[in-house]
Formats: sequence, C-alpha cells, structure tokens
Amino acid sequence: MTTSVAQPESDVPSILVIDDSVDVHRLLTARLKSEGVQITCVKTGEEGLRLLRDNRPTLILLDLVIPGMDGFEILRRIKDDPKTMDIPVIVLSGLSSPQDKVTAFDLGAVDYICKPFDLTELRVRVRAAIRLSRLLTMLAQRAQIDGLTGLYNRAHFDARWREVVATASRKARPISLAVFDADHFKSINDTYGHPAGDAVLVGIGAALQKACRASDIPCRFGGEEFCLIMPDTTPEDALLVCDRIRLSMGEMVWSRHPERKVTVSIGIVGSHAAGAEASAAQWLEAADKNLYRAKQGGRNRCEMSVLEGTPRLAKAG
Ligand code: GH3
Ligand code: MG
Ligand code: MG
Repeated sequence: MTTSVAQPESDVPSILVIDDSVDVHRLLTARLKSEGVQITCVKTGEEGLRLLRDNRPTLILLDLVIPGMDGFEILRRIKDDPKTMDIPVIVLSGLSSPQDKVTAFDLGAVDYICKPFDLTELRVRVRAAIRLSRLLTMLAQRAQIDGLTGLYNRAHFDARWREVVATASRKARPISLAVFDADHFKSINDTYGHPAGDAVLVGIGAALQKACRASDIPCRFGGEEFCLIMPDTTPEDALLVCDRIRLSMGEMVWSRHPERKVTVSIGIVGSHAAGAEASAAQWLEAADKNLYRAKQGGRNRCEMSVLEGTPRLAKAG
C-alpha cells in the first residue's frame, strides 16, 4: 500500500474579485457561475488582502483603478508576500495603454483583460489561469513527495524542520526528531531482489504514516532512512511512539519473503523547550549518533538523548 501525505486541492476553484464596481461583481458572479467556481467579491484592496491571509483563492481578478490602494499596489503586495505570490492574478481594467499592461505583467499578472470585456473570452482566460494554477500546485507538491513511498522527501524535511524548530523555540515548546534506518537492508535486496527491497521501503513508510499523529511529519530521508518530526512531543514521549513503531515493524509479514522479518534501528533526539541555537544539522547529527548507538547495540532498538536549548527566563505575569 502506498500512502500519500499530499493534500488534494479542493475540487471547487475559488475566485477573489477585487473591484470597486458592484455592477462588475454582479456580472462576474452571474457569468462565471456556469464554470463551477466559487466567487467572493470585495470593493477595496485592504479587504482583499485581509481575506487573502486566511482564504487562499485559486485565482484573483483585479481591477486597477480603485479608490484607496490602487490595483498596481495591491498586485505588488500580493506578489511580495511569499504566502500569496504564486496565486495567479488576472488584471481586469478600463486602463488599456501599453504602459499599464507592461507594468501589470512586470509586477506578476498572468493576464490582462480590458474592460468592457467579452464574456466568452473572459471565461476561457479564467479557465486557462485555473488550469495553470492547478498544474503549478501539483508540481510544487510532487517536488516535495518521494515517488516510492508517497511520504515527504528530504527537500520538504529541510523546509519544514526550520519552521517547526522556529515555532517550538518561540513558544518554548518540546520537539523531537527520530531517524529510522532499516536493519541489514542490503541483504534484503541481495537475497530477494530490488523490488522486494522497494516493497519493504513502502511498508516502512506506511507503518510510519499509520503510527504517528496528524501533527507529526514523516519523511523519507533517502535510501533506507526515514525520519519523523514530532512537534510538541517530549523526547520521552517520542521514545514511546518510536518503540511502538519498532515493535509493529517486527510484526509485519512481507508477502515476498514471509520467512524474513525486517527490523529498524531508531535514533531519537528531543528537547523539552527547544532553543533556536541548535541548527538542523546539529539535531540531525545528534539523532544520527543515537542511531549509530542503536546499530552498535545490536540493532532493532531505539536510542534517545535530550538536547536542551538555552534555559529561558520565565515571563512574569
Ligand atoms: P545496517 O543494518 O547497518 O543499516 O545495514 P544496511 O544493509 O541496512 O545498510 P547499508 O547502508 O549497507 O545498505 C543500504 C542499502 O539500501 C544499500 C542500497 O542499495 C539500498 N537502497 C537504497 N535506496 C534504495 C531503494 O530505493 N530501493 C531499494 N530496493 N534499495 C535501496
Ligand atoms: Mg543507512
Ligand atoms: Mg540500514
């Protein structure tokens, strides 16, 4: 069984219209209904940017001449924010000079439609922009997913780890990291063939995915190594979780080699209140050392150590 942690995008595309004209709101809502899209209309840039923070639309239709913050400034802000920069924006404007078009495209608009617009043309351009947006989302997700196990890959681990450590450190919360390595995996490949080895990797990935909490982040680190980021988890709790996974691995029966069990060794490192000073490399080094100890100690076991950050002064009040 291949587990996938990629989140499927909602089936209904959503469009945010930022335009001061209520007539345009009405017209777009009526005419785009047949496209099966969900439309939200706002009259100002401030409102639009506020909505964008919590509700990410598939596409933005943006007017340029709006009282208050103008469309160019709104576009600049959307494209400056890493959270919104990849949402496609179609400019829908009464301004039709080449310079306005050049500025809009330079700022990152995917398309420019002059008002008054032809509705059929608007529909096909909206459809094309939604298609492009979906493809980009899919590619971005695939670039973070390991093709064999469906777990997140190393690139995703690197990005997420930074985020998780920053959050734990800001809130002085616990955090743990575990590195899993299949025992004598080379001999599975050598004895039963590479496809049998691949099946084991898929099985380990599925076991990890099944055993951890929704907030944990399982990744395939590379080869026969996996890791599990456990936010809000003390090293002692991480040890319990990992030992459960280790035991469940030992119970699995493999259809290609029912006579041969597969075990894993696990190196765990955790902190009760993460400090920002330990880098991802230092955490991984500590987890790897523990993994090495587990291998040296006879394999099929967990080794854990605690990595404490700089003690913080308790905040008064
Ligand atoms: P140890 O218990 O010390 O970890 O021994 P090991 O045999 O598991 O470790 P070693 O590092 O010697 O071998 C790892 C093997 O994993 C070698 C490599 O060919 C295999 N491997 C790496 N990636 C894949 C993969 O995607 N599929 C398969 N089938 N094998 C892989
Ligand atoms: Mg290895
Ligand atoms: Mg190994």
